[in-house]
Amino acid sequence: MSEENINGREEEKSPVSFIEQFIIDDLKEGKNGGRIHTRFPPEPNGYLHIGHAKAICLDFGMAKKYGGKCNLRFDDTNPVKEEVEYIDSIKEDIRWLGFDWEDREYYASDYFGKLYDFAVDLINRGLAYVDDQSAEVISQQKGTPVQAGIESPFRNRAIPESLDLFERMNRGEFEEGSRVLRAKIDMASPNMQMRDPIIYRIIKAAHHRTGETWKVYPMYDFAHGQSDYFEGITHSLCTLEFEVHRPLYDWLVDQLKKDEYRPRQIEFNRLNLTYTMMSKRKLLELVQEGKVTGWDDPRMPTLCGLRRRGYTPESIRKFVDLIGYTKVEAINDVSLLEHAVRDDLNVRAPRVFAVLNPLKVIITNYPEGKTENMTLINNPEDESMGSREIPFTRDVYIEQDDFMENPPHKFFRLAPGAEVRLKGAYIIKCTGFNKDENGVIREVFCTYDPATRSGENGSDKKVKGTLHWVPAGQAIDAEVRLYDRLFDHEDPAGQKDEDYRKFLNPDSLRILKGCKVEPSLANVKPLDKFQFQRLGYFCVDNDSTGEHLIFNRTVSLKDTWARINK
Ligand code: ATP
Ligand code: MG
Repeated sequence: MSEENINGREEEKSPVSFIEQFIIDDLKEGKNGGRIHTRFPPEPNGYLHIGHAKAICLDFGMAKKYGGKCNLRFDDTNPVKEEVEYIDSIKEDIRWLGFDWEDREYYASDYFGKLYDFAVDLINRGLAYVDDQSAEVISQQKGTPVQAGIESPFRNRAIPESLDLFERMNRGEFEEGSRVLRAKIDMASPNMQMRDPIIYRIIKAAHHRTGETWKVYPMYDFAHGQSDYFEGITHSLCTLEFEVHRPLYDWLVDQLKKDEYRPRQIEFNRLNLTYTMMSKRKLLELVQEGKVTGWDDPRMPTLCGLRRRGYTPESIRKFVDLIGYTKVEAINDVSLLEHAVRDDLNVRAPRVFAVLNPLKVIITNYPEGKTENMTLINNPEDESMGSREIPFTRDVYIEQDDFMENPPHKFFRLAPGAEVRLKGAYIIKCTGFNKDENGVIREVFCTYDPATRSGENGSDKKVKGTLHWVPAGQAIDAEVRLYDRLFDHEDPAGQKDEDYRKFLNPDSLRILKGCKVEPSLANVKPLDKFQFQRLGYFCVDNDSTGEHLIFNRTVSLKDTWARINK
């Protein structure tokens, strides 16, 4: 399917999603005077996660692509669960992802006055009533999809009585839960959402924006559709669970509207990822119970967690693009996300040497105290990233597992009598080693061949193995945090009768102290990203300082899981 040329835009080669096709068709038909206006409507009751990124990319992305606007609207209808901390983090994360709402920062609470007046209007028109029953009783009367609900004994109470009670509810005269306002629609509707839904409840808590003004608060379902209408939203894009709410939103807006315009709601499938979960409530539990270090723990699927882990906005947008938008619920493989970040960091991240488990190598025929600067290119994918120098000295560190006393066949690393190249430097040959009293190898002795210096004439001698290394005296100490999946079950929150906590992976974080990194990393800043050669992509942690360097592993170089699971 190829896209029409709209508003002089170039023809698009890639197939468009069904949502984009609807937007194209609406624009073609001249609906809403050719306007496109979307919104991203988070509830400020937690931090944004990668699932939200899918909605953000669509809401802001479609508006941008078709010359429209996208509002940021906080759906702050529940004063009990909402906090300013969340609002700030949501704004930071959207900006980080690369999107901008300009001056259109709205709050559902901006409309509390209008919504209250509308509720009063509905009562006056016989379309809403105060019900004195509890929410539990009301829910028991709702019926089932194949059985009509039972009408409330208060359904036909006099309009003035409902008006009076609703006003007194808002003055704080009644206890929370003692009364609600319900829309009077149809207790026999095949759509359960239409069976006289609750539209207002009493909450006696201060609201972060409206303070003590209100004692009644609109239900999300009563605020959401009308807020879209008040803001002139043309395309209200949301996840599939809202499909059954659409007739209610339409009904409410129909009672409100004075013109032809009505927001068009289009639903798409949620983003779900393997080995994690997207519920804000459960993510909050992990934070509160100390199962993770905070919302931005690099193991969390939150945007701030992924950022701290070393993910780039580009890699997240790329991933969202890869999985696309459909009408079918699915669970996406986290390895696809890891693939997207690897791809992105491959071109972006400079290569450096870091040794996670150091083993000292002493090059016995190299003069002690001598230093040669070896030049290494920063990124073979991008010459413009230049090169850097690493001092080469008699003593260097290599990885412990790059040496074996009794190597198996085809071990192309270091072993007694074997030769390897130290990358960017010389070929060395192992002449011996010593062990401590526990039998652990402490030092390896080698000789080097001066004629094999990398990049110089006569250096064409080939060996099978090439190792990364750092100069022992000048390497910098660092802490390295290796992350694994937070859960060891593909769908930890989706297991009937089993608590997701049962599937927490006990090995999701391994902290390595005493790692050694090359001297060029002396002045790194939080969020700087590197490829530690042969080891993976790493990012400087937020808590890292000049005195105490900390790196987080973003992702390994290859999909080791796929290989292990084969
Ligand atoms: P909760 O978990 O509290 O029910 P939520 O995940 O729906 O909340 P909201 O703050 O209401 O979070 O979400 C804001 C917007 O992001 C909504 O339009 C919602 O449809 C969308 N969204 C939330 N989770 C996902 C997801 N996993 N995939 C795609 N879109 C999502
Ligand atoms: Mg929600």
